[in-house]
Amino acid sequence: MSGWQRLPTELKLEVLSHYLHFSSDSVPVQKRLHDLAIPYMLSTKNHEFVTLSLEAYYKTNTFAMHIAELKTSNMISHPPAAYGHFIQHLEITVENCGIGRTLEDLLLTPRLGWRYLLTPTRWLNPHMNTFPQKITSYTGIDTEWQSYFPNLKHLKITVLVRDMMQEPWEIRCAGCDLPEQGVRKLGEFLEDTEMGITATRVEVEVKAMLVMPKGTEFKAVECKWGCLGRLKGQIEEMALRKK
Ligand SMILES: [Zn+2]
Repeated sequence: MSGWQRLPTELKLEVLSHYLHFSSDSVPVQKRLHDLAIPYMLSTKNHEFVTLSLEAYYKTNTFAMHIAELKTSNMISHPPAAYGHFIQHLEITVENCGIGRTLEDLLLTPRLGWRYLLTPTRWLNPHMNTFPQKITSYTGIDTEWQSYFPNLKHLKITVLVRDMMQEPWEIRCAGCDLPEQGVRKLGEFLEDTEMGITATRVEVEVKAMLVMPKGTEFKAVECKWGCLGRLKGQIEEMALRKK
């Protein structure tokens, strides 16, 4: 037996983690790097080595995932579900978190980010959906991905709030240009929701998503007046794992 084979599994994992650590808190593994790293690990034919490498890779790195990206037709892209239980550090960017008139608007409208993040704690009435494109009933299938990641230690969520209604008479916040009443309503709607993804350390950023006239480019703006603070607190509270 070679020296490597005699090492206990824990130590092998530790050594491999060192070599397979590609990310940091501020630079998560994006899909492109992931697509390069995986074939590299699988290229060894030793089964034990491959298995431990994958475990070390998923446990060590911070992964980026995206929801409702304006630029792509993918509604959701996340690290592979089969290895989700190994993952401890995850960063989620949720685009297109629209401002609506009802909780049903938020959770029953196609292409809105909220649908993938929040689970309603009350029954949703399909007739209360006021947006033109709508789905008829709530299935819960859009939040199923959250159960793939039960062992997160660190979760960072960036929520980008977008004004979908564009009602010109609304009073807008001077710090971020979102409609003040719409943002207040979001806070009320979130009271009737919960989240199935939790971690022991949670960081949340909520920003205004100002979409450029062309429609695929946007600016993420932090509100200087802090009108998005309540939402940030609510999301933090929901994502923090209760002991
Ligand atoms: Zn604001």
